[in-house]
Amino acid sequence: MDYSVVIPVYNEEKNIATLYQRLSSVMKSLKKDYELIFVNDGSTDRTLFLLAELHKKDAKVKIINFSRNFGHQMALTAGLKFTQGELVAVIDADLQDPPEILPDFFKKIDAGYDVVYAVRKKRKENFLLKFAYNCFYRLLKKMADIDIPLDAGDFCVMRKPVVETLNKLPERNRYLRGLRSWVGFKQTGLSYDRQARYAGRSKYSLTKLIKLAFDGIFSFSYLPLQLMFYGGLASLFFSFLGVIWAVYQKFFTSNYQRVPGFATTIILVMFIGGLQLFSLGIVGEYMRRIYDETKQRPSYVIESTIGF
Ligand code: UDP
Ligand code: MG
Repeated sequence: MDYSVVIPVYNEEKNIATLYQRLSSVMKSLKKDYELIFVNDGSTDRTLFLLAELHKKDAKVKIINFSRNFGHQMALTAGLKFTQGELVAVIDADLQDPPEILPDFFKKIDAGYDVVYAVRKKRKENFLLKFAYNCFYRLLKKMADIDIPLDAGDFCVMRKPVVETLNKLPERNRYLRGLRSWVGFKQTGLSYDRQARYAGRSKYSLTKLIKLAFDGIFSFSYLPLQLMFYGGLASLFFSFLGVIWAVYQKFFTSNYQRVPGFATTIILVMFIGGLQLFSLGIVGEYMRRIYDETKQRPSYVIESTIGF
């Protein structure tokens, strides 16, 4: 097998026909052997039915069917495990990543790279979301222990050894674009204009987006823990200064009096209390991840596969 394409799908009934048509014509034009692996992430619409119909007509279409919705990153993880191609492409089902640029990826790989990831030059999304994405990627870049490229999503092409390395990582709360950087090898970016969604609405709810962002930060950075430590240290230092000041006032100045400082006291108590809860929350995020790993629960359940 030369090429594998992994496509996670969650309620994408309106996109599948066009995606299949555009993707197939690109792949056919390359005149190599290929497979299209669709991972149905618990769709509740006609997605699975449409995929099964495609498989009947075209054996290159293969389907992994999850028992429920396990999330985009899990769908990708499962898809990658089933790939047989020497080169593996990962692409969204909503045509935000145009399949027509895949040949450019393959060319770059042939030029001697192991991973070619897509970098978003422009996004066609609403202003607030764009702003949030921008901030997040820059924050992550500053915080992460490894060098995660800016504005690079999951859209990419990888050589088999890279995929095999990714498949061996047992981590459960996966932030694949981070893990992809983590594995190393020779990587390069390819910029493209991210298109608007072809049909339907984004399947990333706000909670899913926040989870993904947290996975990015907490899986690749210890900075939150360090900041807590330094925050605590700074607060200790200032309270110590306060004690010295109070003692000095009491013993060495004649006009010492108990000033009414109710508001200050309450605000300080709330501030310290808030800081402590916030810090506890950060520790909790790391702990949740440790707990997830120790439970040893599988990250997804495959109900059926078609075409393998
Ligand atoms: N997706 C998935 N499971 C989910 C959410 C999304 O498999 O729980 C798929 C979705 O069908 C699409 C890709 O992941 O192919 C990217 O999702 P989406 O386009 O909704 O995200 P966005 O582009 O808005 O970040
Ligand atoms: Mg999308």
